[in-house]
Amino acid sequence: MTEQRTALVTGGGSGIGRAISHRLAADGFAVAVLDLNADAAKKVAEEIGEAGNEAVAFGGVDVSSREQVNAAVESIRASMGPVLALVNNAGVTGFREFLKISDASWDKTIAVNLSGPFYVTQAVLPDMIAAHWGRIVNISSSSAQGGQQYMTHYVASKAGLIGMTKALALEFGPEGITVNTIPPGFVDTPMLRESERRGMLGGGVEEHAGKTPVRRAGKPEDIAVATSFLCRDEASYITGQIIGVNGGRNT
Ligand code: NAP
Repeated sequence: MTEQRTALVTGGGSGIGRAISHRLAADGFAVAVLDLNADAAKKVAEEIGEAGNEAVAFGGVDVSSREQVNAAVESIRASMGPVLALVNNAGVTGFREFLKISDASWDKTIAVNLSGPFYVTQAVLPDMIAAHWGRIVNISSSSAQGGQQYMTHYVASKAGLIGMTKALALEFGPEGITVNTIPPGFVDTPMLRESERRGMLGGGVEEHAGKTPVRRAGKPEDIAVATSFLCRDEASYITGQIIGVNGGRNT
């Protein structure tokens, strides 16, 4: 890469987003680490700085608020320049029998997991269009490929994100912008461990790992390497795709 580009990673303070932030920074992007959790975002930006790479934390930002997103993107642009790579990673999970899902829980899941990427993508696309170069990677979920019981609200939000990916790829391909989605499957993060703790996995992480074709759980870095690849200059012919990273759990 000849000149440094800025990448924005939502939910960059934990799990998969943290690994993606580290990886893109190592690749040469200046990374805006955006997260609801301000301490977590700050910590990740500091870790990246200590590794000799560039990152700035944008903490306390809720992707489900258009106002907060617009304000954050304006300040990223002012301090780091145009945003040319976006990873829509922030998300919330949920387990509930379908007949017991409340309106509030449905609305929150859709607001964070689907409206969030809508707001953030609208906020940064003008930068990519102006540069005639952009990379968008949406972190969806393997549950939207195979379905997952007791997660209808979550699965619906992630299936929506896959649809959004495909439609955006068609509209912005002529602008030099690629849009792809990675649906992770069973990645060992605080979110997965919380699901395990609440007894929502139908067994422990290690037990599931033993039944996975590659015989291990995913690592956040597994998602980060695929994201890194999709953000490269050389990946310009890959758009509108679903790139599964799941140890063979879904094929
Ligand atoms: P995680 O460890 O819980 O990290 C998610 C991060 O996003 C947290 O720092 C969280 O902050 C932040 N966040 C939550 N709501 C937000 C909001 N409204 N605005 C801004 N930031 C927000 O989860 P993860 O496992 O790394 O998951 C990352 C993504 O991968 C999610 O979209 C998830 O659905 C997807 N995914 C994960 C797996 C898996 O196996 N782990 C599988 C399929 C898909 P707080 O801590 O303050 O909430």
